[in-house]
Amino acid sequence: MLSIPKLADDFKGRVISPDDPDYEQARRVFLGSIDRRPALIVRVADATDVARVIALARDTGMELAVRSGGHSGAGHGVSEGGIVLDLAGMKGLEIDVEGRTAWAETGLTAGEYTIAAGEHGLATGFGDTGSVGIGGITLGGGIGFLVRKYGMTIDDLLAAEVVTADGETLRVDAETHPDLFWALRGGGGNFGVATRFQFRLHELSTIVGGPLFLPADPDVIEGFVAAAEAAPDELSTIANVMPAPPMPFLPPEHHGKLVVMGLMAYAGEPEEGERVLAPFRALAEPVADLVRPITYPEIYPPEDPDYRPIAVTRTSLTNRGVDRQTGETILERIQESSAMMAVTQIRALGGAMARVPDGATAFAHRQSRLMVNVAALCERPEDLAEHTDWVAGLSAELSDGDGGAYVGFLADEGEERVHAAYPGATWDRLAQVKARYDPDNLFRLNQNVYPA
Ligand SMILES: Cc1cc2nc3c(=O)[nH]c(=O)nc-3n(C[C@H](O)[C@H](O)[C@H](O)COP(=O)(O)OP(=O)(O)OC[C@H]3O[C@@H](n4cnc5c(N)ncnc54)[C@H](O)[C@@H]3O)c2cc1C
Repeated sequence: MLSIPKLADDFKGRVISPDDPDYEQARRVFLGSIDRRPALIVRVADATDVARVIALARDTGMELAVRSGGHSGAGHGVSEGGIVLDLAGMKGLEIDVEGRTAWAETGLTAGEYTIAAGEHGLATGFGDTGSVGIGGITLGGGIGFLVRKYGMTIDDLLAAEVVTADGETLRVDAETHPDLFWALRGGGGNFGVATRFQFRLHELSTIVGGPLFLPADPDVIEGFVAAAEAAPDELSTIANVMPAPPMPFLPPEHHGKLVVMGLMAYAGEPEEGERVLAPFRALAEPVADLVRPITYPEIYPPEDPDYRPIAVTRTSLTNRGVDRQTGETILERIQESSAMMAVTQIRALGGAMARVPDGATAFAHRQSRLMVNVAALCERPEDLAEHTDWVAGLSAELSDGDGGAYVGFLADEGEERVHAAYPGATWDRLAQVKARYDPDNLFRLNQNVYPA
């Protein structure tokens, strides 16, 4: 039996046990369907605390969950009956404005980092949501609003500090522990706890960005994806085909009708941006057009901290394009769904992301044309099963049969899908690095690569 008061003395950070008034809040993760009760949560203060939590997990054999922003699609940020190592208290950030680099502690969210860097007119690309932790998104790869211009988040990762399963703190970069540095860039939380990342920063104060709502029909869907793929690298887009939410800036007659919500981000000269965006605006009379010059951090609007969606999702990376027929399929299937909200998200990839060779990092899908995520949101966790077949069915219809998956968007889908994220040689190499740095698979509550 763990003695919590005695344990608390061992840590600089905070130990939260089930009788703590903050326990209910502290065990929550982003997904509303995850309801796990860990034996204790340690909100670590530094790498020494991290090493102590790792030792505690090792000595007790208790399951260890490592949490940065808590957005894992499998709820891996919390354990049932085990220990949660919560990095949320570690938010240090040192920006070297002249050198255009930053050392960031992994309790920061993408939004917090972006606001702080934005004060210097600098940016590193993360994903589409500000509340996602830089820990999880970076280790998974990071595909966001700058992916075509500057590549994935891992393409801007210069170094990391990692506490390994034996409690040692390693400084990792292209020269020091290059095998581990390769694995960290896409291999997820398998290899240790990253306490700090060093990122490259880009000069980027303003972009032309925001949501563009178009009425959804097969031609608009086909045209949107074609324009997104043909656009210069400065433009990254995310197209969500979905029923229009009842947002105040959308005319009430469109609420519930299918739209393409295009999230646009043009990282270049505003005038050129207007020209590049013109073909999207010409696809149909926009339902709402909120695309305008903004500061880069404005790409992350404020979020409701109590929003905890319940969803079934399926991610795929595909080389199949989107033609009119595909657009028709998407619209038909969404109309057939009984979910509270059914969405198909299409992200055009390419650009800087595709110029990094396949084997350079543990992200194995550099040449994929599109990332397609299908999701069904519902009101209660017990309704999830009802939508699983729908999500899998549409995802299969839209994929190219190759079955590639993005680890960052995997839910709890079994080993086969982890292999889909890490096919062939990538898996083999990851398993070897795992055997070297975590031979006993202490870090297993993740999209697990077990040791070779
Ligand atoms: C609403 C939403 C939007 C998203 N949008 C995007 C997007 O646009 N682009 C994209 O690429 N991804 C996106 N994602 C996926 C996201 O990147 C992953 O779910 C990521 O793992 C979340 O990171 P986190 O730190 O918030 O989650 P957590 O649940 O805290 O962590 C997830 C896992 O990562 C590992 N981990 C986290 N931090 C560390 C650390 N410091 N050291 C070691 N292991 C660690 C652990 O294994 C942990 O279980 C999105 C997810 C959500 C829910």
